[in-house]
Amino acid sequence: VAKETGKSAHCVFSPEMNKKVAEYMWLDTHLRKAMEEHQLMLYYQPKVATNGDVLSVEALLRWRSPERGIIQPKDFIPYAEESGLIAPLGKWVIDTATQQATDWQRKGMNLRIAVNLSARQLGNISLVTDFIETMQKCGMKNCLLDFELTESYLVEDEKAAVDMINQLHKLGAEVHLDDFGTGYSSLSQLARIPLDSIKLDQSFVHGINHNTISQALVRAIVAVARTLQLTVTAEGVETLEEASLLDEIGVDSKQGFLFAKPMPADELEHWLVQRALTSPGSSNTAPR
Ligand code: C2E
Ligand code: MG
Ligand code: MG
Ligand code: MG
Repeated sequence: VAKETGKSAHCVFSPEMNKKVAEYMWLDTHLRKAMEEHQLMLYYQPKVATNGDVLSVEALLRWRSPERGIIQPKDFIPYAEESGLIAPLGKWVIDTATQQATDWQRKGMNLRIAVNLSARQLGNISLVTDFIETMQKCGMKNCLLDFELTESYLVEDEKAAVDMINQLHKLGAEVHLDDFGTGYSSLSQLARIPLDSIKLDQSFVHGINHNTISQALVRAIVAVARTLQLTVTAEGVETLEEASLLDEIGVDSKQGFLFAKPMPADELEHWLVQRALTSPGSSNTAPR
């Protein structure tokens, strides 16, 4: 163990590295247990179309730890990716979302669920076969899941990405490019990859009204998306000013705290009912 003095020639780890190692050791035992002991849950955040319809929600992972309370994905997904635990974790997310979408359909709700996939999961060929099996088990006839991919995956191995996207399309899922604009994919790459939609990263959305550069970028991205027949979702919409400017620019749907935070399934149902009551005709997805 390295000495605290920092002078020791035998000091292998810096204090920050020691902290990271300790954290990873904690995660290693506790995340496995969390999966077995049902401490994971999915929260759902609505995507609101320009006409007010909510036809889709994004599934976002939360971990209810008895020791630490709610743990956010940024505090355990990177570890899950490095350790390989992302495979069973990702499968749990798809299984749970498939069951939830089927339950909602039985309640008469017309709601799709978008699931986030990490690059590591996409390299895994069993993703598609596992999903088909889960759909059959749950009795889901028409695919109600869509998938959000990150740019890093497209850049890493474009051919594998295109293969995977084609397979997901065959099942009836849409494929969306998440956090667009932050990574390394180019506009020309967008033209080669058979995506359905892009999600504008929050960094372009926050304060867009006061930032002429973000505004110009978003207008250009939306114009390119139109040409390529991709729909555009803006994420991280927090103010009415942002929402109306994004409407004017022509994004197809918006997501953000202005409309709703991510919430457990029962709260989302309640939110949809309230919404249908307060703005009749704007939502056709509330449970019967
Ligand atoms: P993401 O897919 O880009 O999700 C959007 C994030 O922005 C979510 O954070 C959401 O809670 C947050 N958000 C939504 N609206 C607003 C807003 O108006 N303002 C602000 N400031 N934030 C907003 P969250 O839930 O902490 O998730 C973070 C990231 O973790 C996600 O980014 C996604 O990359 C990853 N993630 C979450 N769930 C999963 C999962 O099941 N599998 C995988 N592989 N990754 C996941
Ligand atoms: Mg996402
Ligand atoms: Mg996103
Ligand atoms: Mg994001």
